[in-house]
Amino acid sequence: MAVRTHWNITHACGHEIARDLSGRPADRRAGFARWLAERDCTDCWKAERGADTESKEQWLAARRAEEQRAAAEWAERFDMPPLEGPERALDWGERSRHRLMTSAHTALVVEGTWHEADWAELEEKARSITRAGWWIDQRDSEGADLLELLEAAGETDRGTENPFR
Ligand SMILES: [Zn+2]
Repeated sequence: MAVRTHWNITHACGHEIARDLSGRPADRRAGFARWLAERDCTDCWKAERGADTESKEQWLAARRAEEQRAAAEWAERFDMPPLEGPERALDWGERSRHRLMTSAHTALVVEGTWHEADWAELEEKARSITRAGWWIDQRDSEGADLLELLEAAGETDRGTENPFR
């Protein structure tokens, strides 16, 4: 008697699907059928995965919007100038600036030995860097390195973008 090729699989999701397993070797069909039965059917699996991707994107978008709000509030409160650059870089630049400034404040003032006066000086330097792309480039930097980064940026800028400073 030949091993059957058509199996009715009852999937974990409860759907019963007729499958043609003739493409599998005879001695593997029962095992494969069992494996299939432990899983959701293809439609349910796709739907589930689609929902996951969607909710993850929604979550990311919501988080980004939240960060953007915080960055804008912070910029206003600490008198940070609007950034310059291509439209699509502006929000990202603002978020990067806010994140880096916040981690620098934590590293240097809150957990470090800096006084508020030192910090005020750093803030002043940060205000002079208005190129969104610069802040985006520093997005993975350590807060503790910010002063060095700002000083390097200042030197570059003096030679090129702002000859009057
Ligand atoms: Zn299903």
